[in-house]
Amino acid sequence: MRCSRPVMSRRAAIFCCALTIALPPAGVSAQQEAITAIRAGRLVEPETGTTAVNQIILVQGGQITAVGADVPIPAGAEVIDLSNLTVSPGLVDTHNHLALTYKMEPENNFYYLTYVLDSTPLRAIQAASNGMQMLSAGFTIVRDMGNNGNYADTALRVAIEQGWIPGPTIINSGLIIGGMGGQFWPTPEMALDHKIVYPEYLDADTHDEIVKAVRQNILFGAKVIKICVDCKPYGYSVEDMKLFVAEAANAGMKVEGHIQTREGARRAIEAGLWSLAHDEPLDDELHKMMAEKGIFRAGTETPATAWSRTSQEAFERRVELLRNAYDNGVNLTFSTDADYYIPGMTRGELVIDFIKTWQAAGIPDAKILEIMTINGYKCAETYDQRGPIRPGMAADMIAVPGNPLEDIDALRDVQFVMKDGMVFKRDGVVTPEVFFNAGPVNGWRIR
Ligand SMILES: [Zn+2]
Repeated sequence: MRCSRPVMSRRAAIFCCALTIALPPAGVSAQQEAITAIRAGRLVEPETGTTAVNQIILVQGGQITAVGADVPIPAGAEVIDLSNLTVSPGLVDTHNHLALTYKMEPENNFYYLTYVLDSTPLRAIQAASNGMQMLSAGFTIVRDMGNNGNYADTALRVAIEQGWIPGPTIINSGLIIGGMGGQFWPTPEMALDHKIVYPEYLDADTHDEIVKAVRQNILFGAKVIKICVDCKPYGYSVEDMKLFVAEAANAGMKVEGHIQTREGARRAIEAGLWSLAHDEPLDDELHKMMAEKGIFRAGTETPATAWSRTSQEAFERRVELLRNAYDNGVNLTFSTDADYYIPGMTRGELVIDFIKTWQAAGIPDAKILEIMTINGYKCAETYDQRGPIRPGMAADMIAVPGNPLEDIDALRDVQFVMKDGMVFKRDGVVTPEVFFNAGPVNGWRIR
């Protein structure tokens, strides 16, 4: 690009000279230095189930630097008064598909058609919108688990991390890897001649293909590996899945398995996958095996509501299974598999409505909050950097009028959201300006 304009903004000047002058963009250094002090009327700690009153949380450089009742507010700090609210760590959805939105019109909720109708660039833009809708509802971390076109999930994660747009922290899987066909049942013409399975799924049938598929996803920005355990009669063996686990571990990554048969679930547990998506094939025996191995359960706890197509019978079975998993001490996570549009609801409003199922299972409110926060951080592997409200952690937090430890429905009214030390929502209104930048303010090397 030529620098031809006689008067350039500081940002434009930096853009033109970026290769020779490593100046930070305007705003970032000031933001890094600025101190924000949050007055929290109540501060919940989901891990211990306790509430502290009248707390001060100091934030600088995107991180929490101090938390306590007697923390002095430095001169010049911007004070955010949340003394009428309860501050909580941000929420986690461990199974969402931000770049997939199938609809009643025109595809009758049949996502094979969504994949044909919606291009990856369009889906990436949908993902940016869905990500903001999730953040507005208090979800500061989302595991984005495949069905995201040709790596729209990576584009979303990178756009957020580089600092172009606001959004949750994204832990994305890239393409779902499966035996030939993935979850689709395409015609030979569509699959073989037109390749209308890839890029929605990545075929890997032999051991060489498994290694290559894992490496392709890592190369193109995946942070977790997602596999179809048993979407086809030729599902993966225990040996196959151990190879996935070993190959992913070489790059420091974990493997989640989509399960839909009992036998597939049993093999996945035996192979030691990190997490299992969906819950239909699980039972008491499998839950006990999962608890013993510490495998995370990312079920699909769709409530029976006016908007869902879940029958009362299916809902009751789901509730019973969830309760059984809880009683067996399984590592539970809040997980929705949200990938569809319900008119009148944002993606975030849809997701938060899943707490109905957890309430129906009789799980105490404080435990539900712990599952939606702490267990989520552990499953997403952010626990040591992002999530808990304590010094040294990324400054992510939300605030609600009630106390979610006592009434989990309080999470339906998120009034305040802070992400990386920046305010995304205040007094119930989204104010995202500070997140929008015309360049990669956090560095273009973030991939
Ligand atoms: Zn899913």
